[in-house]
Amino acid sequence: MADAVPGGYSIETLLAAAAETGGAVAPPIVQTSLFTFENYKAFEDRMAGRSNEPLYTRVQNPTVAAFEKLMAQAEEGEAAVGFASGMAAVSSTVLAFVKPGDRIACIEHVYPDAYRLFERMLRPFGVGVTYHSIEEFQSDPDLLKGVKLAYLESPTSVVFKTLDLGLVASHAKKHGTITVIDNSWATPLFQRPLTLGIDIVLHSASKYLSGHSDTVAGVVVARQDLIDRIRDLTLPLLGGKLAPFEAFLLTRGLRTLGPRMRQHQATANLFVDRLASHPHVSAVHSPGPNIVPGLTGRSGLLSVALNDNVDIPNLADSLKLFRLGVSWGGFESLILPTRIGLNQAGEQNSMQRFGVSDRIVRLSLGLEDPNDLWADFEAALSKSART
Ligand SMILES: *Cc1c(COP(=O)(O)O)cnc(C)c1O
Repeated sequence: MADAVPGGYSIETLLAAAAETGGAVAPPIVQTSLFTFENYKAFEDRMAGRSNEPLYTRVQNPTVAAFEKLMAQAEEGEAAVGFASGMAAVSSTVLAFVKPGDRIACIEHVYPDAYRLFERMLRPFGVGVTYHSIEEFQSDPDLLKGVKLAYLESPTSVVFKTLDLGLVASHAKKHGTITVIDNSWATPLFQRPLTLGIDIVLHSASKYLSGHSDTVAGVVVARQDLIDRIRDLTLPLLGGKLAPFEAFLLTRGLRTLGPRMRQHQATANLFVDRLASHPHVSAVHSPGPNIVPGLTGRSGLLSVALNDNVDIPNLADSLKLFRLGVSWGGFESLILPTRIGLNQAGEQNSMQRFGVSDRIVRLSLGLEDPNDLWADFEAALSKSART
């Protein structure tokens, strides 16, 4: 295990205080495709794997490495590898460990593009995929018998159901199943799955890690041997590498992850509080601290089921501060009605398959003043409801 928090500081301190070389407080952007060598011997040593000097940016770049090092420390893992998107992180992780004939056990309500990867790409290549509820993962110690890889989210997408990760990790260890979790919702500030026994953590860094809605990226954190396998196979051969400039933006985003998550949490607490007793709301999906072991905070991504009297298109069009759009985790507040989000080109997705109501709207609460956001949402809700 790498020294997770050097000097015993909190992860927030580590992210804000991380030192750079040469006195600069921000990392240099090493915008180069290749690196040259001083002499024949140095080049030969590198190609033979006897040294680890940077060679080519598809596999190694100092700006990317600075971000990877911070992420490994934040997630308390031994090593990390950056990717060009969250989906590059997902596909490169799964493909590094499964082959035809293997089986993946996946959580229901998984991110819809991960579902499409499994159904439309891996299944035709001969990889079996089965889907299971939270309850099945937790209660059946033998669910993972014969399963190569368990693909998890906690909380899950859109309905935000939570999993006891330590329990599932212990079931997986019994059967030699590799556990992978998408930790984009919680970030390492609110949940560190590797400390609960999960093998591999991945993120869409496009969301909270970046925090500024200006970057598409992904990252994977795990033990050194697991990261080595990804670095050896899928990083170079699928080639979905993280670019130096995006890595620079991500390191910049990580500096303020703590204060941003605190603000998202404060706004989410206010919304959950008021939505819970609102007459036009039938359910609020927003897991809070300690709802499962190891979850220590509430992020700003939640969903609300609205009563039949609320006209959802009217609600969306009445909002002034919330804008309509996909993605989440940035400074700006967004609304995504599931009846739009679920209707991807007429293709069935994980939300339809596992039964998500089209009365649900997903909210990404941004960094605006919480009272302004609530006033906007409440006014639009009243306006769009028949009484
Ligand atoms: C957005 C998202 C992804 C995919 O990430 P990209 O960076 O868009 O490729 C994966 N998982 C979750 C939970 C997401 O929200």
